[in-house]
Amino acid sequence: MTELVGNCARYADSVDEQHQRPTRGGNEQRLPPPSWQTGEVVGVIVETPETNTLRIRVPEARPFLPGQYYNIRIPVEGRPRPIQRAYSIGSSPIPDHAVIDVGVRETPGGLVSPVLVRQVQEGDKLEVRGPYGSFTWTEELGGPLLLIGAGSGVVPLMAMIRYAVARPVTVPMHLLFSSKSHEYAIYADDLAVLEERHDWLSVSHVFTRDPLDTRARFHRRIDKEMIAEVYADVQPALAYLCGPPEMVEESEKVLINLGMEPKSVMTEKYD
Ligand SMILES: Cc1cc2nc3c(=O)[nH]c(=O)nc-3n(C[C@H](O)[C@H](O)[C@H](O)COP(=O)(O)OP(=O)(O)OC[C@H]3O[C@@H](n4cnc5c(N)ncnc54)[C@H](O)[C@@H]3O)c2cc1C
Repeated sequence: MTELVGNCARYADSVDEQHQRPTRGGNEQRLPPPSWQTGEVVGVIVETPETNTLRIRVPEARPFLPGQYYNIRIPVEGRPRPIQRAYSIGSSPIPDHAVIDVGVRETPGGLVSPVLVRQVQEGDKLEVRGPYGSFTWTEELGGPLLLIGAGSGVVPLMAMIRYAVARPVTVPMHLLFSSKSHEYAIYADDLAVLEERHDWLSVSHVFTRDPLDTRARFHRRIDKEMIAEVYADVQPALAYLCGPPEMVEESEKVLINLGMEPKSVMTEKYD
């Protein structure tokens, strides 16, 4: 993963109470690593036919930065120990960092995600540990931002957008978001509402399996020409790329070839 230069903390070190925002601290403030705790599922939102948001109340929650993730572990039959997977937080740490929304897409044949999507219900308890990750953005890093996501890769990017709304800040953000079709585009309705309300936000949907839907700007997989076109419009100072490794690596190369500094292109790969 490309690390952002400077003091990108592994997790937010504290909350600035006056401004109600998570802060990036120096080494002197580092907390001990997070430990496992039992969260309660306080809501389940069906986002698409294969993706649910699990809203989890975390009893001893730490402040987190937009873009970070939690680990979730569940018992799996035949396995001696619980199996853990990483899930990005899709919600803003403001106003309440103790309630996190994770967006889980079902990976067919997977050990953990089918259980989280098909079986977990409101009121269930889940073992969670976090936050983790340095794929983060807050306003002091500036913009304009180009956010590129595919499938569930949109989840941490949505946290950045929701954080900007909640602060509020008006740093220009453009989301290039690839999905199979509108039906499979996670947060599509929320994004439409936010785009309507906020001048600083614009969204280009990419539908790879629905060539006729005019709600998408592009109807093919994310490629060099597409990124160049969006790049010319947005003139980003920073880019955040999240999704399957191949998409992330290709997009990163394209942005660097277009003139972005490698340190300005942040990546998160969902293997
Ligand atoms: C930092 C980070 C953040 C992430 N955030 C999110 C997020 O916000 N939302 C999200 O949906 N996902 C996210 N992921 C991905 C997530 O962590 C899991 O990898 C994903 O949910 C699949 O887990 P699983 O247990 O369901 O599948 P796995 O059990 O890991 O299986 C994955 C695939 O491999 C196949 N497979 C497994 N074992 C074998 C085998 N022995 N032989 C052949 N094939 C096999 C399965 O059939 C399946 O298709 C994130 C990953 C990272 C690293």
